[in-house]
Amino acid sequence: MIFENAMVITMNPQRQILTHGAVVVEDDKIAAVGKTKDMVEKYPQKRRINCNGNVLMPGLIDTHVHTAQAMLRGCADDLYLLDWLIKRVWVLQGSYTEEDGQASAGLCMLEMIKSGTTGFIECMLAERYGFDGVAQVVEQSGMRAAIGKIVMDLPSYAEAEGVMHPGMVEDGETSIHNTLIAYDKWHGAADGRIQVWFGPRTPGGVTPGLYDRISALAKERDMGITIHLSEVREDLDYAQSEGFRSPIAFAQAHGLLGPRSVLAHVVWTDEQDWALMAETGTHVTHNPASNSKCASGIAPVHGMLKAGVNVTLGCDGGPSNNTYDMIRDMRMVSYLANLREEDPTVVPAEAVLEIATINGAKALGLEDEIGSIEVGKKADFILINMDAPHLTPAWDPVSTIVYAAHGTDVDSVVIDGKMVMEGRRVLTLEEDAILEDVRKRYRDVGERAGLDIGPRWPVL
Ligand SMILES: [Zn+2]
Repeated sequence: MIFENAMVITMNPQRQILTHGAVVVEDDKIAAVGKTKDMVEKYPQKRRINCNGNVLMPGLIDTHVHTAQAMLRGCADDLYLLDWLIKRVWVLQGSYTEEDGQASAGLCMLEMIKSGTTGFIECMLAERYGFDGVAQVVEQSGMRAAIGKIVMDLPSYAEAEGVMHPGMVEDGETSIHNTLIAYDKWHGAADGRIQVWFGPRTPGGVTPGLYDRISALAKERDMGITIHLSEVREDLDYAQSEGFRSPIAFAQAHGLLGPRSVLAHVVWTDEQDWALMAETGTHVTHNPASNSKCASGIAPVHGMLKAGVNVTLGCDGGPSNNTYDMIRDMRMVSYLANLREEDPTVVPAEAVLEIATINGAKALGLEDEIGSIEVGKKADFILINMDAPHLTPAWDPVSTIVYAAHGTDVDSVVIDGKMVMEGRRVLTLEEDAILEDVRKRYRDVGERAGLDIGPRWPVL
């Protein structure tokens, strides 16, 4: 295929933007990038796809996704994180069947594809959602994913003991054992699109000895680890009550920092934490919408970037965001940094687009394969339709996309050289069937959980 007449935002090391550009795809890779005139002459036999001057850019990488929460969109609004978890989210998730887990994952991936996400990290796949069912949806969807399998052995959150819904509780042995089974079965599957990681729960939910085992097993296999860390004030208080300077220091003591670790949220941190993460090559996934909605705090993105930490972007989940639309969230990265620092220059549009693409590729350990439009890399990219009032005029396409676009402006998606969405029609998943299935299931989950969730205003 040759995608011609595009405004190509390459994200290559020089960050070049190519007008009248063309991208040639052979098998799963980008074979050439150049001006349309030259490319069409050089590759006359290719199937030609006219981009009509629209933007072609690397696919977005969502580094913090709870696939099981797509079906819980809007079920826990306007609550602090601990109430959000204890009164709503765990109760509902603890009532899931494996079929619910698979249905929610299908919904989540549909939404991600339709808003331009090509790769993601599932941060906490619980036993009861069914690992195989979710991995099958990743395989079918055509997406690229690191699936973090939950590991835990305590039903607590920070200092709040025994608060987890019994339906969510797993024991340490089983959760470790089943992660390794999933690793043997799925790591490298789907032409290498699937990775299996450890997704241990936050401190308070895992005994220190179990963290040590996770980090040792991960090192042996070069597996990734993703963990929620220092999300809310309670996380900082808990680490300090256990005798650590901070949750980041706790993570260091248990071997949880390093180039294969992606820490989620990282709100309550200081210069020493940033230096430690930068030194160890630890990645951070920033979740601006989720942190704002639950009033968890504003992550120090500017400080972390300045210290040299690789910061990436995550949408988090259906009840905390409430969408999986990376384009909708991109502007928040800049807006929140501006507010925190009282300075509108600290995290400009260009930095945000790096955070959402090439930095995400680094977190996945795939910076040599994805995250930019360069010859030899995998063909993971998206087309954005710029022919819309809210995107006109485009003085600078980077600014337009970061500050003005919506996920629904994404027209087409290519992953691993395959067309996954064309003209807003997803080709790999059955959209109508997935939506119908979710609409049938979500009320049953609410009923099994014993929660009556609906409009808070009177319904006539
Ligand atoms: Zn999360």
